Order: sequence, then C-alpha cells, then structure tokens
Amino acid sequence: MATATAKSLTVYGEHGRDDVSHQSANQFGVVQFPEKGPGIDRVGTRDTYAHPVTGQSGQWGDNWMDPQAAAALYNAVQEYQSANPAHANDVPLKYNDIAAYDPTINLGHSSHGSAKAVDFLYMDRNGQPTTSIYSADLTRQNEFTGILRQHGFNHNFSNNGAVQGTSHWPGHINHEHAGQRIQQ
Ligand SMILES: [Zn+2]
Repeated sequence: MATATAKSLTVYGEHGRDDVSHQSANQFGVVQFPEKGPGIDRVGTRDTYAHPVTGQSGQWGDNWMDPQAAAALYNAVQEYQSANPAHANDVPLKYNDIAAYDPTINLGHSSHGSAKAVDFLYMDRNGQPTTSIYSADLTRQNEFTGILRQHGFNHNFSNNGAVQGTSHWPGHINHEHAGQRIQQ
C-alpha cells in the first residue's frame, strides 16, 4: 500500500512496520517510482540526460513521477494482483518510461510531461510480458486497465484502442500507456 501528499510518497512494504520507505519529492515535485515490486518491475534501458540543475552528465532515470500518481499506480498494481487468484503466478508488470528528473525534459513522449503517465508492456495469457498487442491477453489488460481507471488513470492508449478503457494512439503496438489527465 502506498500513500502520498503533494510532496512525498510513502510505501508500506510486505514485511511489517520496518518495511516502510518514505521519499520526499525533488525540486521538480516528483519522486522515483520503485524499481521493483511487489507486482511491478522496471524494464528496459534507463534514459540518460544532463542533470537539469547541475548540468552533470549521468543517469538521472526515467521513472520519476508525481507522488500522488505514483501512489495510485502502486495501489492499482496491488489491487489487480489481489483481485484475482488467477494472477497469483503472473510475472510482475513490466513498466518502462514514466518521466524525467525534471518532467519537462521530454524523453520521447510529450504526454509524460505531467509525470502522471506510465508505459508498460502487455501481458499474455500466461501472465508473461509481451511486446505485442497481438499476443496480449485482453482479459488481463481490460481488468488491469479498469482498476487503473478507478485510480484516476483515465487517459489511456493502446493500439487501435483494443484494450477497454483506452483509445488509439500510434506507437502502442508494443506497450500500453496509462495517464492521469491533467486537471484544467
Ligand atoms: Zn506513454
């Protein structure tokens, strides 16, 4: 379970009262989404770019997220896992890009600039990650996307909108995108 304020994220792990991690947002208002579990792992290469303040080169990562969106994603993944015993042996969901240390740095998707959007691989009917919508298990995708929507991710894309609760946007044959629409 995770909770958040506008400026911090607290994650309660599976191992009791000592298993609590707290992260304050950086100067751009974002925290790093956990690299690993439960139920979700980071996958793919890490984006590198100059540090937005110091100018230093190095790895500044692509898993920075608005704290409240991060808590929502974390809780959605756990809810998906516990909602259906059929998912007990699923491989953790594989997520890739969220946003940069300074989310206005575009890592190749302008729609991630709010730091409230995440890309993840599709799941196949064995609960394994797949990089093709054509081998995705739409039952799993629909179920997970429905839970994401309940957690505020209502701006979602898949190829041809094949997943319920998403619409079509080019470039989503190999992954689904879930985002929280920026409030106007
Ligand atoms: Zn995306």
